[in-house]
Amino acid sequence: MTSGFPKTSPPEGVTEAEWRDWRWQMRARVRDAAALEGFADPVADERLAIEQLAQRFHFVITPYYAALMDPQDPDCPIRRQVVPRSAELQDPAGLADPLDEVAHSPVKNVIRVYPDRIAFCVNNECALYCRFCLRKRMVGEPGWAMKQRELETALAWIRRTPEIRDVLLTGGDPLVFSDDKLAWLLGELRSIPHVEIVRLGTRLPVTLPFRITDDLCRLLERHHPIWLNTHFNHPRELTAEAAEACDRLSRAGIPLGNQSVLMRGINDDPDTMRALCEGLVRMRVRPYYCYQAQLLEGTAHFRVPVEEGLALFRSLRGRTSGFAIPQYVLDTPYGKVPLQHPFFRGREGDDVIVESFDGRLWREPNPR
Ligand code: SF4
Repeated sequence: MTSGFPKTSPPEGVTEAEWRDWRWQMRARVRDAAALEGFADPVADERLAIEQLAQRFHFVITPYYAALMDPQDPDCPIRRQVVPRSAELQDPAGLADPLDEVAHSPVKNVIRVYPDRIAFCVNNECALYCRFCLRKRMVGEPGWAMKQRELETALAWIRRTPEIRDVLLTGGDPLVFSDDKLAWLLGELRSIPHVEIVRLGTRLPVTLPFRITDDLCRLLERHHPIWLNTHFNHPRELTAEAAEACDRLSRAGIPLGNQSVLMRGINDDPDTMRALCEGLVRMRVRPYYCYQAQLLEGTAHFRVPVEEGLALFRSLRGRTSGFAIPQYVLDTPYGKVPLQHPFFRGREGDDVIVESFDGRLWREPNPR
């Protein structure tokens, strides 16, 4: 299962057992330029941005993920996902909450856009912090952490809202929770008769695959039906360790999907996207969605004109297995919209116009 995918090695002085221990990885995370030097040679712009931006959006990387970086190339697609750059300061149009999630929250950290399902941001912590994160406003921020009584308030809301049949546990990352806390939370959700499925949104198979232990898989198996979507963005993230984590989850009967973000210089060319999608299929992970990068603060340098995304996905059609091609979507405050006919209604100047599932028109700023 893991054959053909490269394996990472611990740096000098770190044992294999430590490297494969997710708690060790969490303790040993890179948090400043000096620690980054153990994995890469930071350029002046990275050093400056770490200093200027660390307070605005956390700079934290697991040693495992840092080991995937090209030490010499600041344009490395792994490095650009997690190391700050001064371009983040040049995004006047970017918004803190482009999907208006706060306005869609009946109780803290429960986001309801559709009648029958919710995103429940149970945890505001992640193993690392991605520079393009949609929930920058909240991840790692103590004010957004869910206290026990707030989790209970959210569960009580779900209990008294019988239309909710599908609960996505997200964050932050729900799998950063301890096994005990997850067992409690899943047990509570499973005791609500109208909750038919629980979905997990987690980047840990990508950023900290050692978290996917046999114990965790046994725990999840006890609460089926569980579905899981992860978030690989580049073929270099497809390692032997990631493949092992996905294999464990698959063996526990959990259907796996991938949600990537289309980003300039990371995966916005057909060969890279195809290698990513075909590698995911080899790992038995279905490429599910590829998101158009949102109008999110500090991310203008990642955004791609919609027409380029359309051309990219069109070029994959007929050149790889149909189920290896994700659906290219734009998330809007009205819900996700497939970027294809008839939902994509065209361009008006610097804006693109799309139609949501219920017929509302959304205007997304997206200069060419
Ligand atoms: S792992 Fe997900 S939630 Fe966490 S910082 Fe990255 S994109 Fe955001």
